[in-house]
Amino acid sequence: MTRKPLVAGNWKMNGVASETRRLISLMKNELETLHNKVDIVICPPFTSLESAYYALGQSSTVVLGAQNLYFQAGGAYTGEISASMIKEFCSYVIIGHSERRTLLSESNDDINLKIQAALNSGLKVILCVGEDETARDNGTATVWVEKQLREGLKNIGNIANINITYEPIWAIGSGRAASGNDAQEMAFFIRKTLSSLYGKETQNTRILYGGSVKPENIDQFLQQADIDGALVGGASLQAQSFTDIVNKAAGQ
Ligand code: PEP
Repeated sequence: MTRKPLVAGNWKMNGVASETRRLISLMKNELETLHNKVDIVICPPFTSLESAYYALGQSSTVVLGAQNLYFQAGGAYTGEISASMIKEFCSYVIIGHSERRTLLSESNDDINLKIQAALNSGLKVILCVGEDETARDNGTATVWVEKQLREGLKNIGNIANINITYEPIWAIGSGRAASGNDAQEMAFFIRKTLSSLYGKETQNTRILYGGSVKPENIDQFLQQADIDGALVGGASLQAQSFTDIVNKAAGQ
């Protein structure tokens, strides 16, 4: 089974619109030469999505993703952003990032509603799952991740537009990445769990690794049978490191 790799850059809460335009102008041409081999998604903050969209140009093969959405379609929800608002500029949305689960107490039920809203609007989803350090140390990481998958995907009938990212919380922004073997073990477990829910379709589902990915360590993840790309935080804020990572994904 060949799955086209996906590399997504999560810019988190970094960059005003002018910095977004600058960073995109530094990477755009090189990234666009790689699109036959790798799908590339850039996820700037909401406030930069429109600038990013025009900086890329409407026919760009590099597409945009949002970092979150609100599940309601519209109305009196001060400060929230709906799927249709995102859809104006984006093809993808990250849902369930651990920073939101941890800092903002986002639950699996919230995440489930967000996934439904995203899919109903035609957005592709990057669903993040991953255990904390205690679960990793006491051997319950798979229990944790299975619960996130089963509850997050409850009543979602079709997984075709969902990508999963395995992001161990202890590896995000810490500089301490998982080993390639540990990441593969969990990616295999994720695929097995999905396959119990969705059957053979799961062979097409892309599973990414996220957590302190850099050009120097991306190969150890891309070499794994069940890992199909990366969600990159810090290293996606530097044009050189992000293009190096995407080049490596294109070369696999
Ligand atoms: C992320 O933001 O999803 C992430 C993995 O961050 P970092 O690469 O900085 O660990």
